[in-house]
Amino acid sequence: MSSSGSNPPAEASSKTSPSKTAVPPQRSTIAESPLQTHGHPFLRKLQSGGLSATGSSAFSTTADNGSSNNNSGRKSVDEAIAAVAAESVGDKSPTAAAASAAEIMINRRLHQQSLDNAADPGTSSTAQGSAHVHSHDGGCCSTATTGEAQKHTYEYVSDHESFDLESAKLPPISAEARRFTDQLLGQNKTWAAKVEMERPGFFARLEKQQSPQVLWIGCSDSRVPANQIVNMDPGEIFVHRNIANVVTHTDMNLLSVLEYAVTVLKVRHIIVCGHYGCGGVAASLTQKQYGVIDNWLRNIKDLYTIHRKKFDALPHGGTEQQDLLTELNVIQSALNVCHTSIIQKAWSRGEELSIHGWCYRLSDGRIRNLGLCIEGPGNVEDVYHVQKP
Ligand SMILES: [Zn+2]
Repeated sequence: MSSSGSNPPAEASSKTSPSKTAVPPQRSTIAESPLQTHGHPFLRKLQSGGLSATGSSAFSTTADNGSSNNNSGRKSVDEAIAAVAAESVGDKSPTAAAASAAEIMINRRLHQQSLDNAADPGTSSTAQGSAHVHSHDGGCCSTATTGEAQKHTYEYVSDHESFDLESAKLPPISAEARRFTDQLLGQNKTWAAKVEMERPGFFARLEKQQSPQVLWIGCSDSRVPANQIVNMDPGEIFVHRNIANVVTHTDMNLLSVLEYAVTVLKVRHIIVCGHYGCGGVAASLTQKQYGVIDNWLRNIKDLYTIHRKKFDALPHGGTEQQDLLTELNVIQSALNVCHTSIIQKAWSRGEELSIHGWCYRLSDGRIRNLGLCIEGPGNVEDVYHVQKP
């Protein structure tokens, strides 16, 4: 987690001494565990930063807006909506006007979608039926009904090409917000142009590919960006990050990412990567209160309690205890990944899937392999196995 801000726990010093973190006595128990290090060619290449973009892919949570679909009837719909928008925006507050404009856009998209569906007998039953539309948070749902047949289609609304900010009379943007926005968007423009110049067609290729080999589960800390520290391109790593890279069995966000990565993207490797000097881990060793995050960090406190004797044998107040807890947290989180029905079912289907445990060192940018690589249910307690259907 990041150390920015006044209240969140400060990150521990990144000046962790290699001599203290390299091979403390407690870690020998990790190396002697049945979870042995595997010199996997892919991982060696990954750790050396030697993977190229060849065969890479991209995944975006923003779905295609369907703008390339059949545009039959689009013009008349646009004209009708423009007329409605002119009336509805006229005497409303800026916020209400913006909401109306957004609703218009959603309805236009849904209307266009129903037209497209009607034109495609393979995807809809609306040709002779009625269409009902309504919006949801972050997206929209179209329910088309004919007799008892019912079909739901979801589409994330991301196309705002007709959203006229001026006519909607939105509140003015502050100079600071404008400067910040301009700066980042300018940097984005420069970056995109540089990439395209160096590798013509990069984004066009990336847009069509969706098969990253890696799911990365790491800390939200801004100093540990997954792609950069293993020198991989956009599209090569599917990423989930949270404070202190905790994996719990009730985190629907993480489980959704994990399931998608395994069952749809077919990733081959899942890497749980913690980092020395993690503020979340450091906070777990204190009695301070930080707010909601205290409940999240309790997962790490539990590890401290379970392995209390190991911690008591280490000096207090230094980085030794934090480093040990960081590593134990990575190992437990990696094991928790293995325990999920998602991974167990994938293994039962015979899929090749490896779960790894790594730790990144802020002080030198190097990743330490904790010697954890689980490639099948054999190294996981029987109680977590699933029976084949
Ligand atoms: Zn962290």
